[in-house]
Amino acid sequence: MKRTIFTLLITALIFTSCQQTATKKAADPNQEFDVVILNGRVMDPETNFDGIRNVGVKDGKIAIITESDIKGKETIDAKGLVVAPGFIDGHQHGIEPYAYRNMLRDGRTTIMDLEIGAHGPKLDEWYKRREGNSPVNFGIAVAHEFARAAVLDGFNDWKYLYTPDALYTREKDGWSKTRPTLEQGNEILSLLDEGLRQGGIGIGSTVGYMRQGVSAREIFELQKLSGLYGRQIGMHFRNTPGTDTEEINGIQEMLSNAAALGTPAIACHFNNPGYNMVHELLIRMRERGYNVWGEIYPYNAGSTALNAVFLEPEVWVKALGNKYEETVQDVVTLEFYTQESREEMLKKDPVRQVIVYKCKEEWVADWVKLKGVAVGSDGMPLFPDAGLSWDTPNEDLPNTHPRFAGTFAKVLRLARENNVPLMQAVAMTSYNYARPLGEMGLKSMQVRGRMQEGMVADITIFNPETVRDNSTFAHGTKPSTGIPHALVNGIIVMKDSEPLKEFSAGQPIRFEVQEKSRFVPLSIEGWTQEFYAVPEDFGGGVPCCDFANEEGHKH
Ligand SMILES: [Zn+2]
Ligand SMILES: [Zn+2]
Repeated sequence: MKRTIFTLLITALIFTSCQQTATKKAADPNQEFDVVILNGRVMDPETNFDGIRNVGVKDGKIAIITESDIKGKETIDAKGLVVAPGFIDGHQHGIEPYAYRNMLRDGRTTIMDLEIGAHGPKLDEWYKRREGNSPVNFGIAVAHEFARAAVLDGFNDWKYLYTPDALYTREKDGWSKTRPTLEQGNEILSLLDEGLRQGGIGIGSTVGYMRQGVSAREIFELQKLSGLYGRQIGMHFRNTPGTDTEEINGIQEMLSNAAALGTPAIACHFNNPGYNMVHELLIRMRERGYNVWGEIYPYNAGSTALNAVFLEPEVWVKALGNKYEETVQDVVTLEFYTQESREEMLKKDPVRQVIVYKCKEEWVADWVKLKGVAVGSDGMPLFPDAGLSWDTPNEDLPNTHPRFAGTFAKVLRLARENNVPLMQAVAMTSYNYARPLGEMGLKSMQVRGRMQEGMVADITIFNPETVRDNSTFAHGTKPSTGIPHALVNGIIVMKDSEPLKEFSAGQPIRFEVQEKSRFVPLSIEGWTQEFYAVPEDFGGGVPCCDFANEEGHKH
């Protein structure tokens, strides 16, 4: 038996090396490429390759990386510039035409919403709306909070099919505060299952906005469900934002489930109190073979809706010791709220966007030093959005948190100013998201985030000496500079800092649609047989009162 495996392995190795030789032979440097990028500093975070090379792009792929002279139909002069894998943003909530110019100026060639996500049954439609209609790649998770809004508040008026719908779903609070019955829990899970069946990139859970309504059992069942598909959960932790203990307890909930179930997980925006320990937890779990990772955005303030549960006085003021007048700022007027003005605004516009100061400014540079961390911008959808499009001039876009436009360039600037190795910063902006997603079987991410022959030609070209963010809390959509060129799937989508309307370039980042769903509704009987630990309802997780008495199970 062992011998057979050994022979198979050897055969496989020979076969693989033949294939590689074959691929290399195919890339004749004398052919005409679609695009050539000349004399740039090519950096590959997977192999640590760092050298001046010419890059030939053909049929959407990186066909050759060479010191030889090459020619193409189009030429980019990259002398003095870094030629890096296209930036991958796993946490962008505004995946809309009005956002694409800002995304490209910031070097982002893939944007995904893996924290809130799309409503399960609408996932396919979400992708269809963007196919042939986006210069950047796009992807999305399945939304826990929207499944809850559908089941617990009866919401079914989907306009956007993903995050911006929260403007309407969050006007009620059943999604946030209600404990589902077992039956409702099964409905929530089957809506999520439908999104996974349709190819969603795991589950996004904003449990931090649903602290009262979502039990530990519910989160555990969510992670079990994503695990049936081998996919991740991305989580805005239960106690985020919180103290340096609460934040860590929040991620411990997710990581202990991930360990028990063997499922992947993303610690969304852990740039909060307690980040040092969150980082260590993630590293130690990865060392033990778990596919878990974390992301940061480099700002000391966050952004959310004014009616978020953690901004209620009992939490924000009493428990966390904050003052509204120092920490909660209106995104439009830039004025800080008081407890009274917050209450007044809640009556008029409960989901109004605000900036929330929650960290020390000196921590920001520290986050860029965390090796292995990925960058997720947490860019917000813009409101009001009527009439906004690709053609809307930048100065006419509504204001928003500066992370929308500046996150990736800011990471590169902070890395430069704080002597973080450039290769580490390049890894943060691309490979650190591509690698774990690829590891869990997402094929489109196995061939991105890398500057290697044969990989997809998503490429961001920037000046390491000048790249910088320009967006501020007063002008959140001011474009980044120092990133002149970008390619998506081999197509030039930005040249000389001018984004091009190449809407055929962007591809869906998505799992294949499955024929059958994998979710089996939870039942008292199932739990009893397996664990003798019967939840009384979906919020339970405690042994039921009386095993002998069947009536005892009916609540
Ligand atoms: Zn969040
Ligand atoms: Zn977010």
